[in-house]
Amino acid sequence: MSTGYALAIHGGAGTLPHARMTDAAAAEYHAALAAVLAAGEAVLQEGGSALDAVTAAVCALEDAPLFNSGRGAVFTADGAQEMDAAVMEGTSRRAGAVAGVFGPRNPVRLARAVMERTDHVMLIGQGALALGRSAGLPFEEPEYFFTQPRWDALQETLELRARGGEDDDPARRHGTVGAVARDRDGRLAAATSTGGMTAKAPGRVGDTPVIGAGTFADDGSCAVSATGYGEVFLRWSAAHEISARMRLAGASLEEAARHVVEVDLGAYPDSGGVIAVDAAGNIAMPFNCEGMYRGHVRTGAAAQTAIYR
Ligand code: ASP
Repeated sequence: MSTGYALAIHGGAGTLPHARMTDAAAAEYHAALAAVLAAGEAVLQEGGSALDAVTAAVCALEDAPLFNSGRGAVFTADGAQEMDAAVMEGTSRRAGAVAGVFGPRNPVRLARAVMERTDHVMLIGQGALALGRSAGLPFEEPEYFFTQPRWDALQETLELRARGGEDDDPARRHGTVGAVARDRDGRLAAATSTGGMTAKAPGRVGDTPVIGAGTFADDGSCAVSATGYGEVFLRWSAAHEISARMRLAGASLEEAARHVVEVDLGAYPDSGGVIAVDAAGNIAMPFNCEGMYRGHVRTGAAAQTAIYR
């Protein structure tokens, strides 16, 4: 077995439309993605696990206010922030997830605490927060999570709705962050974290924390982290479907991921994309919309980041 590692990250399919992206803003996104790749790669370089690498990468994404997760999460219709996150390792298929939480600085670490400190896969509400406190995770005040662009996006969306319009601006509408990795021992892991969709109904949970929809890992097939219109990814069990195509139909990672994103989810144009890695360290990052903030790095190769096609 190869002893190389591979890491892919995404900062969501809710990119600024190409026509509105300035050189300065693009440079900011590329720099943020490169810093996240460096944080995740440092773990893998030292022989750390895929699980630790995806956790480190997603923490770095959550800390970056540019992306819709942790600091910089979008707002619900009533002006709150409710975050979802999940983590899964592919060796024994252990998984942890949280939904609708507010307070922990890094929801992905709370998801990991669910996996490592309880017999459960998903916690919500006060029980999830109590676990975070007993695990000693850092919590933040509302000001930490607030960002003006996300607040403005909520006001614009609510005004649009009041006029009977539909929000079709991906940057205003959604976003998510995620990471998938293959470590030097051939283990796979995935992690995903999001604020969800702007002006979502209070209590709405998307695909991100649902194992098999927005997050999935299985050493025998692949690790997947999704981003996009969560309801569609949920109904198609998108992340698990990619693994199933590999295991049951003998598809390659690229074939399986493209089929799900371009054919199954392709029935819903602009619904989003995925990042995925397999046991051989192959990486696939298909999306059916204009762009997806993303990046990847492999043993001995320079890190690469991209936004559009
Ligand atoms: N999938 C996320 C959700 O539906 C949003 C996104 O990835 O853009 O909550």
